[in-house]
Amino acid sequence: MKKSFGAVSVLKDISLSVPRGGVVALIGPSGSGKSTLLRCLNLLTIPDSGVIRVDQRMMDFTNGHKLPADKELAAFRARTGMVFQNFNLFPHMSAVQNVMEGPVTVQKVERGAAREAALKLLEKVGLKDKADVAPDKLSGGQKQRVAIARALAMKPEVMLFDEATSALDPELAGEVLAVVRQLAAEGMTMVLVTHEMAFAREVADTVVFMRDGVVVEEGPAAQVIDAPRQPATLTFLSHFH
Ligand code: ADP
Ligand code: MG
Repeated sequence: MKKSFGAVSVLKDISLSVPRGGVVALIGPSGSGKSTLLRCLNLLTIPDSGVIRVDQRMMDFTNGHKLPADKELAAFRARTGMVFQNFNLFPHMSAVQNVMEGPVTVQKVERGAAREAALKLLEKVGLKDKADVAPDKLSGGQKQRVAIARALAMKPEVMLFDEATSALDPELAGEVLAVVRQLAAEGMTMVLVTHEMAFAREVADTVVFMRDGVVVEEGPAAQVIDAPRQPATLTFLSHFH
């Protein structure tokens, strides 16, 4: 996959493969293209070229290929759930309304059924008692757990996390990491952009180190983090010890 912004090539023919049920941690310095890659996978950013496949469904952005219709993009986008650093909750909606919104408006699920499913998801992330609370009354860790429940409500095949704990104090980050850990144990396919090296090592099967829009090193989590083979990976990791 390739993506440029103006003259700046941000993703330089990058390729990423995640097996079903696999967890990939994407690490690398700021500006290396990690967020752009996740946004391309979720089609929030349209790649200049490349192919994205989720299970049997494929989106082809090969050079010169016609851009798919909005409806087709939306349907494909729903196959991947995205969680952002800054939560991006709808501020005027309660926790449960945030979780119901996608199923009701996009998937045309009946409100009662959507609410019931949303309450189950809030329970799963430990927030059953916060269903009717507005986002501004929640802690950062609680907001992020609502955001995870909201993404899960669309029944995605893949979950994408872009520095989901970077805005949180360690204690609140821990609540969110616990939910991610649980999803991994349940077999959810995930791509995690993270600066938490200990977490990446624990939860991810594979760690991918990106720099300047290319994959520099990719391998089993423990190997890349404990014994990187590329000098650039070692230099990057040395900032975390
Ligand atoms: P990372 O998430 O690894 O920090 P990003 O994917 O956010 O990296 O950004 C990679 C590069 O792409 C940066 O130089 C950034 O300034 C640039 N970039 C990202 N999004 C845009 C955009 N919408 N327009 C122009 N440049 C962008
Ligand atoms: Mg980023």
